[in-house]
Amino acid sequence: MTDVMRTIEDTLHELDSELRQLSLDIHDHPELNFEERYAHDRLTELMSSHGFNVTRHYLGLDTAWRAEFRRGTRGRVVGVNAEMDALPGIGHGCGHNLVAMAGVGIALALRVALEKHDVPGTIILLGTPAEESGAGKQILLERGAYKDMDVCIMYVPPSEGETEEIGFVSSLALQSLSVEYFGQPAHAGYAPWDGVNALDAAFVAYTGVSALRQQIRPEQRVHGVISGRDWAPNVIPDYSKMSWSVRAGAWDALEILRERVVRCLESGASATGCRHEVTLGVRYLDLRQNPVLAEDLTLIAKQHYGIPSYWPSNPASASTDFGNISHVLPALHPIFSIPSPNNAKNHTPGFARAARTEAAHTAALRTAALLAHTGFRVHADSAFCARVREAYEAGMAGPASRTDRVGLRAALATTTA
Ligand SMILES: [Zn+2]
Repeated sequence: MTDVMRTIEDTLHELDSELRQLSLDIHDHPELNFEERYAHDRLTELMSSHGFNVTRHYLGLDTAWRAEFRRGTRGRVVGVNAEMDALPGIGHGCGHNLVAMAGVGIALALRVALEKHDVPGTIILLGTPAEESGAGKQILLERGAYKDMDVCIMYVPPSEGETEEIGFVSSLALQSLSVEYFGQPAHAGYAPWDGVNALDAAFVAYTGVSALRQQIRPEQRVHGVISGRDWAPNVIPDYSKMSWSVRAGAWDALEILRERVVRCLESGASATGCRHEVTLGVRYLDLRQNPVLAEDLTLIAKQHYGIPSYWPSNPASASTDFGNISHVLPALHPIFSIPSPNNAKNHTPGFARAARTEAAHTAALRTAALLAHTGFRVHADSAFCARVREAYEAGMAGPASRTDRVGLRAALATTTA
């Protein structure tokens, strides 16, 4: 496998300046959920120029895309994801410029390795919109984008840190939901008793959730904001809306917590006499790292770069739509620390600055090399791939997970690309 790693590294070395410019260009054009048009065009042009078979505006999503390379008629399919979206007011504070660049690097290096070492196989690089809050991968999953893949790999939005290390973190399941309260307007001084106060409904509900938060588990999260329209201090507000995110370690625990939150939201309506409507939004499942893929990457990272890997003992905290993918096929999503001045964390302006440094680029490329190597092993080694599949099946054997997987597989079975 040393020869394969040399092929991958040589390829990435040749592509280094092109990949660096790609990362900087995406960083300089931050685009929000489902608006990643610059990134879509830039990335699809680049993949076309390297001979991949490119589909733009994939599966009805304006900014999704797919780039495929096929060698031979038989062989396994390795999927790679490239995220592109930025954060409002912060830009690339989640480092998706590095994620997209690394996705391209993995696909191009893996392609050269298949050719040079005479191995059949298919590479599908997906441009996946709206990771931050639109669950773009779930939409692509439901429309069949992942149905041919044997495994899916990607470089995760990087974490900050002084030392070089690779982490196989999990993520929390997340459900977004909103509630609207409908009341009755009235003059706030002349006849407040005629009003039904929708703002008060929101505040009662918010207070209920605040009390609830003292009795939930350490890894669970409930956080939200209140908004309204045409509010004035001398008019009883007849409308309010709250948007919430509910997070838990796994989907079964999340469903229980979500029902407790919904009861708090109902309390605002019953206390004030408002009518209320709850709307469920996107859902992100907890991330399952495939242990056999992780073991392979760990070994090469240690042998080749002397970089240690770890499985965190702390509970997960963030959420990602790649979690949904990890419930339907074997998946790997390692994090690799990048140097971040003043220890700035993800989703901050400081981290956005860190994501465009040369040091961050070098770290992302190393992870791309390692992931390309693990992808090559999936293509080249049937016994390894069987073990990857077995580990996935074993990891999904819990009752709650099985329920989820059946639902998602049903969605896969009924969709066509
Ligand atoms: Zn993020």
